[in-house]
Amino acid sequence: MAKDLTSQILEGMKHPDLIRNIGVAAHIDHGKTTFSDNLLAGAGMISQDLAGKQRALDFDEEEAQRGITIYSANVSMMHRVQEKDYLINLIDTPGHVDFGGEVTRAMRAVDGVIVLACAVEGTMPQTETVLRQALKERVKPILFINKVDRLIKELQLTPQQMQERFVKIIQNVNKLIRTYAPEEYKEKWQVSVQDGSVCFGSAYQNWALSIGMMKAKNLGFKDVYSYYEKDDPIGLRKAMPLHEAVLDTVVTHLPSPRNSQVYRIPKLWQGDKESPAGKSLMESNSDGPLVFVVTKVIIDPQAGEIAYGRVFSGTLKKGMEVNLVNANTKSRTQQIVLAKGGSRLVVDSVPAGNIAGIVGMKAAQAGETITTDSSIEGFEAISHLFEPVVSKAIEAKNPKDLPKLIDVLRNLEKEDPTLKVTINQETGENIIAGLGELHLEIKEHLITRDKGIDIVTSDPIVVYRESVSKLSPKLMGKSPNKHNHLFVSVEPMDDKLFEAINSGDIPEG
Ligand code: GDP
Repeated sequence: MAKDLTSQILEGMKHPDLIRNIGVAAHIDHGKTTFSDNLLAGAGMISQDLAGKQRALDFDEEEAQRGITIYSANVSMMHRVQEKDYLINLIDTPGHVDFGGEVTRAMRAVDGVIVLACAVEGTMPQTETVLRQALKERVKPILFINKVDRLIKELQLTPQQMQERFVKIIQNVNKLIRTYAPEEYKEKWQVSVQDGSVCFGSAYQNWALSIGMMKAKNLGFKDVYSYYEKDDPIGLRKAMPLHEAVLDTVVTHLPSPRNSQVYRIPKLWQGDKESPAGKSLMESNSDGPLVFVVTKVIIDPQAGEIAYGRVFSGTLKKGMEVNLVNANTKSRTQQIVLAKGGSRLVVDSVPAGNIAGIVGMKAAQAGETITTDSSIEGFEAISHLFEPVVSKAIEAKNPKDLPKLIDVLRNLEKEDPTLKVTINQETGENIIAGLGELHLEIKEHLITRDKGIDIVTSDPIVVYRESVSKLSPKLMGKSPNKHNHLFVSVEPMDDKLFEAINSGDIPEG
């Protein structure tokens, strides 16, 4: 990051109206990494040549090798719209279903999400899951339809056929928004081409179009076709740069922390909105008491525990005495850092509305509320849509490594609350349970590669739960004296009732 860019970011952090905290959510392989890299390159954060190759957000070696994004990192960029400089914090969210827990936690830190859907495949199950997780946290969506180049070059669709495909994808996304958005946002948050909340493009070839850009530059799909006819992808990219269309849309359609906290806080925090902390939270006020919510804990070999999260109120500073509400303990902030892809930038303070990391919070877990106001209650627990269903027994090949293995397992559990570790000190049998086989495999690699412990694991055991998919026929049972007949049928619970029971808010009737 160039020095002047760093100071621009530090300046930008002070203006909550000009901040956008966003995530990108997509089904695996729909192009999220390529898209994020090109956004960053466009905003001058990484070199244009390396975009798509460098994978700024995939900083873990394991991720780069497998070519998938596992851990959410965050990066900041600046974007100018109508003479104003906006700070955009992009939090990366994994696309693989096995990492659903990471997605949910990242959503707490952001106010808006770019839903990326591949133009060829359309909305897929994981598109639905991530969108549902975003909406549950009151995170506003916009839509990016990616891989449009394939519709033109590979499938050779006519403009008419292409438009029909877009309409279908937009309708599907809007149907999901109508199903999962909070009641008051079901209509308000519908995405549309006309209002500019939908962009089209190719992350791979680094171009994008929105209605705003079409009007401002007098461009349209006929121009896209003509660039392809001339086989001039560079001209296309120059005419309609991806980062310009997308970041303009982000600034225009996604809310600032100040705007979003007004409706997000009542859902995420049940405390008294009239109290000093309550008022400050609703206003994203950097002069109020500190309220910070941890969304991710990383255990760094040098710095130890770093709790990353969002400053919802007050200003986070080095050396503050803070309360950890859930852990019911006090601690002191040793260092404040900003995540820069794989590295860190140490800063003096971070005001409300921003994403930062605190070094020294040993007891913090994802979901923890860290505050200077000892009287307030914590944020709602971050609820995960998934539970660990695959488990494996894990032991150290060499018995002398057992204490080290137990230590490592406990740390892994701290970093990733969707990983469940059961340790039996007496038998030495340890069980790790995760969201899928890939989830566990990655953890095993971490143990052997990073920690140097040779391990032996059992085959995975998958817990199956039976479910009801449709209304059953009526079955009859008789009482022992055969005088009473009992008729029973089962049917799936509708989503609304399921959500209500999950949140403890059971409707009457
Ligand atoms: P992720 O799993 O969502 O992060 O997806 P990646 O960014 O790793 O992309 C998956 C594959 O799709 C890679 O081979 C990319 O080169 C390719 N890809 C991404 N965006 C586009 C696009 O706009 N057009 C085409 N043709 N391929 C793309």
